[in-house]
Amino acid sequence: NDRIQLEFKVVRYASKDRLLIARDITQTQKLQRMRRDFVANVSHELRTPLTVLRGYLETLTTESDQELWQQALPIMQQQSQRMHLMIKDLLALSQLETGEKPLQHRPTDICKLLHSVVEDAKRLEHFHQHQISLHCLSEKWLMADADELRSAISNLVFNAVKYTPAETLIDVRWHIEGIFAVIEVKDTGEGIAQHHLDRLTERFYRVDSGRARETGGTGLGLAIVKHVLQRHKAELVIQSAIGEGSSFKCCFPVKSVMDKIDI
Ligand code: ADP
Repeated sequence: NDRIQLEFKVVRYASKDRLLIARDITQTQKLQRMRRDFVANVSHELRTPLTVLRGYLETLTTESDQELWQQALPIMQQQSQRMHLMIKDLLALSQLETGEKPLQHRPTDICKLLHSVVEDAKRLEHFHQHQISLHCLSEKWLMADADELRSAISNLVFNAVKYTPAETLIDVRWHIEGIFAVIEVKDTGEGIAQHHLDRLTERFYRVDSGRARETGGTGLGLAIVKHVLQRHKAELVIQSAIGEGSSFKCCFPVKSVMDKIDI
């Protein structure tokens, strides 16, 4: 797949001579392949819940059994919610990629933002006595698009809850580290094998697809995080070790940092 692909064409040159033209089509082919894969992935992801919904609808139209209805409705609700989330994430990702929505840079109180994300995480269905600690080691604010940043950090904190067992320790930190201002989400869960790390931010990439679907994951969360950070000239650094846990660091250039202001 990484081989260079060339397209050759012979054209008549002067009266007898021929000219061989070689064109490097590696990039075009790669883009076409990515587009094909993307369409196939989206179709697959949407077809699964749709098939479940159709199955139930067909059964229920001829069925008056109350018990069956009671069993079917929550499943139908869950599957339509899954499709809704998928479409919401796809639209968010597409807006980020095309840059259609301009960044709304504003002075952002990171500690306040992290605090509210942590509170939201405690209300998640998958939250089972997880212990989330928040360490705001800097009082500095950040010039950032607060809504986009919130969606990125929520993805990281929610993942830490979704993919770790009950009672896991999760640490959310904001601090200055040399030339970077860092928001870190660290868990002491099962960790992720090294060979997955480079691919985690690819769209629809999942370490364990069965488990990710169970948790309601769309497979787009980390792709969204990556794009939000790119737009802020920041980087995502992922470290993980099996049996020890994972750390997701959002590293912003320290020049985006500012003193807190009174509003
Ligand atoms: P999803 O919507 O499936 O959660 P993400 O893009 O957010 O997709 O994450 C990609 C995959 O990375 C997840 O399916 C999961 O397997 C893995 N993952 C993400 N965060 C963690 C974590 N904190 N611990 C273990 N695995 C994780």
